[in-house]
Amino acid sequence: METLFDVLIIGAGSIGLPTALFCVENGLKVAVIDKNHSAGQGDNKSAIGGIRATHAEPAKIILGKNSLDFFQNWEKNYKTSIGWKKGGYLYPVFETNHEEMLKKNLIIQHQYNLNIDWISPHDIKDIVPQIEERNLLGGTWSPDDGSASPIMTAQALYLEGLKKGIKYFFNEKIESIDKISEIFYIKSTSKSIFKSKWIINAAGVGISEIANLFNTEIKLVPDSHEAGITEPVKTFLKPMIVDIRKDKGSSNYYFYQNHEGQIEFCITPDPPIIGENRDSTSEFLPMVAKRMLKLMPILSILRVRRVWRGIYPNSLDGSPIIGFDKNFSNVIHAGAMCGQGYMFGPAVGLLIVKMIKNELDNKDRFVLDRLSLNRDFSSHETLK
Ligand SMILES: Cc1cc2nc3c(=O)[nH]c(=O)nc-3n(C[C@H](O)[C@H](O)[C@H](O)COP(=O)(O)OP(=O)(O)OC[C@H]3O[C@@H](n4cnc5c(N)ncnc54)[C@H](O)[C@@H]3O)c2cc1C
Repeated sequence: METLFDVLIIGAGSIGLPTALFCVENGLKVAVIDKNHSAGQGDNKSAIGGIRATHAEPAKIILGKNSLDFFQNWEKNYKTSIGWKKGGYLYPVFETNHEEMLKKNLIIQHQYNLNIDWISPHDIKDIVPQIEERNLLGGTWSPDDGSASPIMTAQALYLEGLKKGIKYFFNEKIESIDKISEIFYIKSTSKSIFKSKWIINAAGVGISEIANLFNTEIKLVPDSHEAGITEPVKTFLKPMIVDIRKDKGSSNYYFYQNHEGQIEFCITPDPPIIGENRDSTSEFLPMVAKRMLKLMPILSILRVRRVWRGIYPNSLDGSPIIGFDKNFSNVIHAGAMCGQGYMFGPAVGLLIVKMIKNELDNKDRFVLDRLSLNRDFSSHETLK
């Protein structure tokens, strides 16, 4: 007779992997199902590894802080490396409208005790001496933000989960889900039937398809983003730099030097490339390189090793969607993570365990309320 799991998680990605680990650490019997051949093969591996609590939406600030706590303590608690680096986030500003917007965000960020401030061009040069200072007005600096390797994190979470008894099932795409007397019966590619008391929908860009199986609608507007990585060089760059100016064909771009000395970078196309196309283009590298070299001419000596393209699973307002299903109380949907699913994974996982164990406090309820499936999606997160 098949095992009856307490929790079955659909998706071994940025959200599913930490969620599974926290569930098993809380004494639950856990299964993880993924249509890919191993852990982290969805958009988790597209992420360049930025981790910040620097957001404008309060719920995202709270999630970001909880995740930072987890990432920076991983090596101490689990004794394996995920490439964590506490380098901070720097938003250099060249336009007065951006100064206004970021200073407005600072009011909210300080309300939520975020360690972030507006700093002068002189202070920016202290942190990044190589930055081009023409027209630099100042910027925001949040020294507690950081970065880690999404690929190493996925592997570390998977191996830790395996050790603690999580059952992973790969190459299994969900086909149907039935509920009989409080138990879900989940059929997938191999025609195996999995049985579980809870279902967590952490299927990334596939979240709407899974939600449909419960007659629940989750609207995503996925779009394509490209990224790249250089050869490694001696450490010279401390923070993640986010330049939020627009240029022809793009809006913001961001880059940092990872724990191995490689520069990782990414740009947001403008207008957005809506859809799920994952083919790299020849336009990306010249476009992003031109902008990065203008900001930091020293980068011209670096050689690019690889580029790739992935998908941001966007909600309509730029914030994640997390909540119980409206028809089935033992189903939780967690996705629409936009460009921030890797950084939110651990915090979302911790929240989901509390939802399952009925241990939510007021702060958790506040987060869930703001990120609910049924919210009015008319607002717009400025730092999405
Ligand atoms: C270029 C780029 C750079 C980025 N940089 C960052 C960054 O610096 N920091 C950051 O936080 N985020 C970043 N992101 C965003 C991040 O990658 C995503 O937000 C995040 O991976 C989404 O997490 P997820 O768990 O929802 O989805 P995923 O990680 O994609 O996991 C979903 C999993 O569900 C599985 N699945 C889907 N449907 C089914 C089904 N029907 N049956 C079984 N399995 C299924 C998939 O195979 C996949 O493994 C970046 C994204 C891109 C494209």
